[in-house]
Amino acid sequence: MTVLSRRSLLQSAAAAGLAAQALPLRAKPLKPSARAALLVIDVQNCFVEGGTLPVKSGAEVVPIINKLSTAFANIVLTQDWHTAGHASFASSYPGKKPFETTKLKYGQQVLWPDHCVQGTDDAALRGDLKLPTAQLIVRKGFHQDVDSYSAFEEADRKTRTGLAGYLKERGIRTVYLTGLATDFCVAWTALDARKLGFNVYVIEDATRAIDLNGSLAAAWKKMKAAGVKRIQSADIVTA
Ligand SMILES: [Zn+2]
Repeated sequence: MTVLSRRSLLQSAAAAGLAAQALPLRAKPLKPSARAALLVIDVQNCFVEGGTLPVKSGAEVVPIINKLSTAFANIVLTQDWHTAGHASFASSYPGKKPFETTKLKYGQQVLWPDHCVQGTDDAALRGDLKLPTAQLIVRKGFHQDVDSYSAFEEADRKTRTGLAGYLKERGIRTVYLTGLATDFCVAWTALDARKLGFNVYVIEDATRAIDLNGSLAAAWKKMKAAGVKRIQSADIVTA
């Protein structure tokens, strides 16, 4: 449903004498301010069909993100950027298979197929992502022994990427998250952003999930508890 049709629905509800709050619809479309940023998480060849760790229907987020970008003065992208033989790759452990887990120094780690290796076409941002006004690309997961789902903090929960400092120095207080995958890099980034004091929206239809053993429902539950707001792209006014 488009923003306009929501509005007219609300108007006709008002005309009919119904209480607007009875409708489970957003009455007022969101208009991101100059102190908000669109974060585009890991929209790379590796995470879409034909890549090494494809997220189901991952490429579908691209046109949605391109359209959303017109509403934002600030855009930041992230790029998963691993060394060959990275600690998050199943191939680094004899006998281990992708999607099994192992214990690393910092805790449990899901093991993935080799993906997003630095400098490869697989690790490149999607070619149809059209974000000429984007200002920063944060690369993450480049330390050999530490994974990094979050755009703010690596999986050891100590090493910072520098993104919080960048956003804060630029006066950005609100982040709108999009990209891949909802239940891993998007969720971890959203939770860290809340911890760091940002207002956080996840634009659900601009993400796609891996959903490994119920991970998607678990991620939404955690994000809701942390105060992350779950919205749709139609809730935002675009050009
Ligand atoms: Zn990775």
